[in-house]
Amino acid sequence: MDRPKLEVADIFRRYGEAYRQQHGASLSTAQRRVMTAIEVCRTAALGGHLEHCDSCPYERNAYDSCRDRHCPKCQQVRMPLSHGLVLRRRLRGERKDFG
Ligand SMILES: [Zn+2]
Repeated sequence: MDRPKLEVADIFRRYGEAYRQQHGASLSTAQRRVMTAIEVCRTAALGGHLEHCDSCPYERNAYDSCRDRHCPKCQQVRMPLSHGLVLRRRLRGERKDFG
């Protein structure tokens, strides 16, 4: 799936701090937490993992997701990954198969 030219995260990263300063009094703690989650989703701030193919030696590094239910990236329907990629949590030693 190609990355859109502009994502909500891009807008939050660019204007989020100014928005917080101007409208911070009207933001709840939960709203602030969601903004931060979206800003750091799939960035180095959350760490990363190694994805690898079960059928071939293909591997790639990927950033971790925020998994917040309000995050547009995390709400996207997971498409079947090419190469039958399996996610391995390098940092936490967890393993999760993509469906
Ligand atoms: Zn996310």
